[in-house]
Amino acid sequence: MNLHEYQSKRIFAKYGIPIPKGEVAITPSQARDIAVRLGGPVVVKSQVLVGGRGKAGGIKVAQTPDEAEARADEILGMNIKGLTVKKVLVDQAADIRSEIYLGAVLDRARRRVVLMASSEGGVEIEQVAAETPEKIVTVAVHPFLGLRDYQARILAEGIGLPKEHTRQFIKIAKGLYAAYMGSDASLAEINPLVITGDNQLLAVDGKIALDDSALFRHPDLAEMRDPDSESPAEVTARRHDLNYIQLDGEIGCMVNGAGLAMATMDIVKFYGGDPANFLDIGGGAQADKVATALGIILADEQVKAVLINIFGGITRCDEVAKGVLAAIESLNADVPFVVRLAGTNEKEGREILAEANFPTATTLAEAAQLAVAAAKGEQA
Ligand code: GDP
Ligand code: MG
Repeated sequence: MNLHEYQSKRIFAKYGIPIPKGEVAITPSQARDIAVRLGGPVVVKSQVLVGGRGKAGGIKVAQTPDEAEARADEILGMNIKGLTVKKVLVDQAADIRSEIYLGAVLDRARRRVVLMASSEGGVEIEQVAAETPEKIVTVAVHPFLGLRDYQARILAEGIGLPKEHTRQFIKIAKGLYAAYMGSDASLAEINPLVITGDNQLLAVDGKIALDDSALFRHPDLAEMRDPDSESPAEVTARRHDLNYIQLDGEIGCMVNGAGLAMATMDIVKFYGGDPANFLDIGGGAQADKVATALGIILADEQVKAVLINIFGGITRCDEVAKGVLAAIESLNADVPFVVRLAGTNEKEGREILAEANFPTATTLAEAAQLAVAAAKGEQA
């Protein structure tokens, strides 16, 4: 789950990271009122969960309250990379002298949280990593010792930060690490962290990605979820306890078990197809859950064929077969299906599908090839 900029920055502030004064508005007149309260120039910032809002025209500076209202009017309702802007953050505008990057992320290979800094702030870090990787400095944090001053100093020196800012930088880096750990995040970044005209460091943009598996430990953070910012498919999936991730391909996959789902996607790729999604319906899935899962897959217009791969353990293949038939009937599905059932009540499941003239496959390899062929419009 990703947090909005304004939410991330509020968390940063709790950990002692300096952020600009600001408030959230959902109407242009509210934006005007906030600008009046803040006094002086403000920056009106779209709150959507994508990067590069600035380039997309979703971030604008306003000199007066009237201008703030006008800019908010332009930005609210704007479509940025497929997301509609429903809120803007109105911040006191920063007098930016230079921009740097500071982020905390888990490095699985090192099994440590890594702090990254770069002199190239305001640019997406992926781009810096691809084009000028030497401009990224990292330190790995020992889980028991936490981020040490000397490590923050290595970052500051590595990016050529003027010495006068070192003390404040160390405090911010430690705050960022504490914010990351304290909220069970998988990413926390300040981009840009700016040096202002009056020589202060200020977190102008913020992003926190939370680890969904740890959200139960943070009811206050879980409440920050913005349903407007997620695709309807993801919302439905979560409500039904389905692990669903949309991808770009044309073969919808419905599988029980995350490992089997990964293997299914691999084998689809191996036979020249592209999975449209990852979908784990979990163990013991009942017919109605199967129907919901298929509904989600079929709502994706890119899907040209559906591959169902069920290994019956707790899940009973006959239940799945019933769910598939019910779903196809209620959804008026007109894409080809390939079903592979193995395990508990496999025979019963196949019989149910056979009676409805439905093709089933025995091995995963066979099923994947059939699905790839079907997606290409070839006869199986
Ligand atoms: P992003 O494009 O989604 O990453 O949004 P950011 O909040 O990072 O803003 C993009 C860019 O807009 C920043 O890198 C700054 O150059 C600029 N910007 C953001 N806030 C301010 C501000 O208060 N004053 C000025 N002058 N520029 C700003
Ligand atoms: Mg940014």
